[in-house]
Amino acid sequence: MTKRGIITVISAPSGCGKNTLIEEASKYSKNLAYVTSATTREIRVGEAEGVNYFYKTEEEFERLIEMGEILEWDSFCNCKYGTLKSQITEKIESGKDLMLDLTISGALAVKEAFPDDTVTVFLLPPSIDELKKRLMLRGRESVEQIEERVKFAVCKEIPQVYKFENVIINDNIEKACSELLAIIDAERVKYKRNKDILDELGLKGENI
Ligand code: 5GP
Repeated sequence: MTKRGIITVISAPSGCGKNTLIEEASKYSKNLAYVTSATTREIRVGEAEGVNYFYKTEEEFERLIEMGEILEWDSFCNCKYGTLKSQITEKIESGKDLMLDLTISGALAVKEAFPDDTVTVFLLPPSIDELKKRLMLRGRESVEQIEERVKFAVCKEIPQVYKFENVIINDNIEKACSELLAIIDAERVKYKRNKDILDELGLKGENI
């Protein structure tokens, strides 16, 4: 019997290194399938339709919501982002693991929709000064926007860390990556995911 895949949802304030962490962890996760969200934000240089996102107009996005095709959606920097149901269900049922980078409300909504399949991870910066420094180095936002992002992180995002099952401090990418992989490995050996283990081994017992 094919085992269902694991959905790992990662949330973090902007600048904590979510993308780098996911890229790094993907190198070691052979069973990973990519999930493409829908967004109303503009396509960036180097991005491609259907790879980074499905780029939608406001009207198209609204229509997806009305049609019930969006599992969860949230606003970030005045743009909408949403997880497509079709991208999740088929993949986990076919045994593929998924790693999703979502806003906090998105992560919690996926956990609620797939409680037994999802493991939630919050990524923290080693300090607020370091977060500021990383945002500056990234060079994508103005000084005012960086101040806004940091304020949002301190007042709105970081205080919600307790809603997550796991927390990783990203002070070193190799260490953060091995912690993330350990979380996924620990999830994989949970009894709830291995209820047919005795049958597989030809042993007797109750499958509770
Ligand atoms: P970016 O515009 O940099 O690609 O993404 C901005 C933020 O949107 C990301 O940090 C990510 O957490 C969030 N995001 C991307 N896709 C989704 C989605 O499908 N749902 C939710 N809730 N958040 C998303």
